[in-house]
Amino acid sequence: VAFIGAGFIGFIILNAMYKIGVRLTVIELENQVLPRMLDTQSASLVNTWLNEHGVRTHTGVSVQAIEHGSDGKKTLKLSDGSSTQADLVIVATGIRTNIGFLNGSGVNTNEGILINNRCQTNISNIYAAGDVAEGSDMSTGQQVIHAIQPTAVDHGRIAGANMAGQDVEYPGSLLMNILDVCGLQCASFGSWSSGGEKTETINASRPLYRKLLWDGDQLSGAIILGPADDVSMLNDMGMIKGLIQAQTSLGAWKGHIQTNPTDIRRPYVATKTAEKMLAITTLGSPAAHRAYQHTQDGGKDRSAHAVLVSTKNA
Ligand SMILES: Cc1cc2nc3c(=O)[nH]c(=O)nc-3n(C[C@H](O)[C@H](O)[C@H](O)COP(=O)(O)OP(=O)(O)OC[C@H]3O[C@@H](n4cnc5c(N)ncnc54)[C@H](O)[C@@H]3O)c2cc1C
Repeated sequence: VAFIGAGFIGFIILNAMYKIGVRLTVIELENQVLPRMLDTQSASLVNTWLNEHGVRTHTGVSVQAIEHGSDGKKTLKLSDGSSTQADLVIVATGIRTNIGFLNGSGVNTNEGILINNRCQTNISNIYAAGDVAEGSDMSTGQQVIHAIQPTAVDHGRIAGANMAGQDVEYPGSLLMNILDVCGLQCASFGSWSSGGEKTETINASRPLYRKLLWDGDQLSGAIILGPADDVSMLNDMGMIKGLIQAQTSLGAWKGHIQTNPTDIRRPYVATKTAEKMLAITTLGSPAAHRAYQHTQDGGKDRSAHAVLVSTKNA
């Protein structure tokens, strides 16, 4: 089976085929696998891992043509003059929004539907959320499409709360990807590709890789990579993501992490980041107890019901 595109979705399909023993070839236009998720160094570790697990990779080449043989086999002609054969070709070259139906509607679009920090479009009673929406990235402040489930959930909550009369602002979505590549866990968060100050550890033979990026005393991005059975290297992934998302000022703990990049738990607890995450991840939820109660007068008093259905704070 040949895959065109070595991106996130391609690897989800590839993993399933790998598990049932299919012979796999991956063809990628850019010079590395997972170019929108990993830096060159970690992608090179993934590439080696794939080859060691029997998956052939061709990077820096594009597919020019697919020829169909009389035996049913497909021959993929590559831009470097080589070719490869497959019984099945899977094209996983990315997503594109389907927003043509908005032409002439007056709703502002770019690659997606442009939204403000309340998930509202330029037309005040039209909101957009999820993969179709182009909203603010919390790391860069730029308008982007983050086609991932957590952003869709956040957008949905924010749009819903604002449409229902609350005034809830979104600080922007955090880019995050976590992927299993034939047993190698790969994750990246936030500004993982920025060129700023970094703390890096690597053990190519395992392989293990951890890159933490800094903005002052805050973590701004991370790449984490390691075999699925290496729990000690992977079980703090959520805490790293939390420190980035909560924009926790680590103060003196920064030096601790720089010296001990795998001891994230103590700085996470000491800086009360879980508490900050609670507020961030429940955006759009009721801000106060709603005092639900049953009426004792046969239902004549509807005030409790009004509280129940109200989206305003009780
Ligand atoms: C194979 C795959 C694996 C993924 N894995 C992950 C993952 O591991 N982690 C992660 O965070 N994200 C993952 N994602 C991304 C995640 O699924 C999406 O970000 C999320 O589903 C977006 O939610 P949504 O509601 O915006 O869009 P969707 O879930 O796509 O829902 C949109 C719905 O709108 C319908 N629709 C479209 N156009 C119209 C129209 N004109 N009129 C009416 N209805 C319409 C569609 O049919 C669809 O049912 C994955 C995506 C894919 C494809």
